[in-house]
Amino acid sequence: MRVMSLLALVVCIGCTRPPRGAVPPQPGLIGPSSRPVLVPPAEVIREVPRTDAQWRVVGREAAGLLSQYIAINTTNPPGNELQSATWLKAVLAGEGIESQIFEPRPGKANLYARLRGDGSTRPLILLNHMDVVLTSPEYWKVDPFSGAQQDGYIWGRGALDMKGEAVTQLMTLLTLKRAAVPLKRDVIFLATADEEIGGGVGAGWFVENHPELVQDAEFLLNEGGIIRADRTGRIEYYGVGTTEKSPFWLDVTARGTAGHGSRPTPDNPVHRLVRALNRVAAYQTPLVPTPVVERYLRDLSTIETDPTRRAWLADVRAALRDSAAVRFLTGDLTYNALLRNTISITGLAGSDKTNVIPPVARAALDVRLLPGQDPRAFLSDLVRVVDDSGVAITPQGPNWAATQSPTDTELFRAIVAAARQRTPDALVTTPPLTGFTDSHYFRRLGIVSYGLSPFPLNQAESRGVHGNDERVSLENLTFGVHFVYDVVSRVVAK
Ligand SMILES: [Zn+2]
Repeated sequence: MRVMSLLALVVCIGCTRPPRGAVPPQPGLIGPSSRPVLVPPAEVIREVPRTDAQWRVVGREAAGLLSQYIAINTTNPPGNELQSATWLKAVLAGEGIESQIFEPRPGKANLYARLRGDGSTRPLILLNHMDVVLTSPEYWKVDPFSGAQQDGYIWGRGALDMKGEAVTQLMTLLTLKRAAVPLKRDVIFLATADEEIGGGVGAGWFVENHPELVQDAEFLLNEGGIIRADRTGRIEYYGVGTTEKSPFWLDVTARGTAGHGSRPTPDNPVHRLVRALNRVAAYQTPLVPTPVVERYLRDLSTIETDPTRRAWLADVRAALRDSAAVRFLTGDLTYNALLRNTISITGLAGSDKTNVIPPVARAALDVRLLPGQDPRAFLSDLVRVVDDSGVAITPQGPNWAATQSPTDTELFRAIVAAARQRTPDALVTTPPLTGFTDSHYFRRLGIVSYGLSPFPLNQAESRGVHGNDERVSLENLTFGVHFVYDVVSRVVAK
């Protein structure tokens, strides 16, 4: 209720119709309590913004669009991304940008738009996913699909991951078009389905079924980066995603003899599975300092204030021979995951009746492999660890080797320049992701793909990703639209 009364005060004062560049809220999708604050048409910037005041107007326009976008519930499953694709198509059409919607399955869609350059250099893709993860509204301070603008924030599922990032890409496209910036490359805007569930009909489907629309690209920007700020908002570093670990998800299956729970059998498959999992849980995978992780930790050492830790991070290979350093490095969830292949036992299934011994028991392992690791070699190590021929370990589906993009590129230099313009002497580093994004589909086509986060976030704000009370501040959104425009225009403008 607090949200409703506050919005009633701020909604659309003096504005009777939606501005160009925004579309009216669609009936049934956006409730009156969450109607976004829209920028009046006369105020929409139709040139390349030059002043902070102009960027603040662009930021406010972005906030209005983000509120609308959040209010389209694309929780996956089922996703219903056709609704959001239709909305994006209308926003783009409002500026005269044509787009195509591909609907591989009813209600599931991908949107593709291409702003034409003179073709003298290869295109740049702005990639974003439209689906969002599940929410538990009872733990939220606001309706997660309200898109409420309150306390200087735009609230809702997707505000960070990744509808907020998508809006910074969208505003970049709109700004290039409105200002008629001459382009040396095409700029492709690709909004996809099914990123959050993997293996669906999103980026992977698009690359497989319409490679002709993307494979000529040289560069791609996607989620998977980070701008780390401290509690005061000071930027500590800009992290560009150039590589990510690869998932190698496994099923563990034990078979035995079914029976009545009152008469134990010697080959109860649940017992067998538990013994196997016990060995898996105790298994310490080797610590492997890969070159990309060594470089990232060395970068971080330059901003580490504690002298002992600074020395460990600066030379992680040496640090791994020191037990105190190993305790520090493996005690940090991220460092630990970056220094080894990891195994999390996640799924378990035995009997659904307490008095029945099942014929089969299963577990699922979430395994993540470092770049350069051979999945088959990892699997044989695990089979050796389990050491039970009655227990089968099998990959859940196709897997891929970790992919990596080089940093000696025009796009990387543009990111560094844009970062340094805002934060002189900024550390620009390349944190590998422990998870993965859709970038690997494009890296495998030879497209240089970077994770670029447009928002400076502190640790607490980052927790909104897949968590409760996800939100982005208007200040960060404004920073983000300016930053992404700056990076993109440096590589696409003539
Ligand atoms: Zn995401």
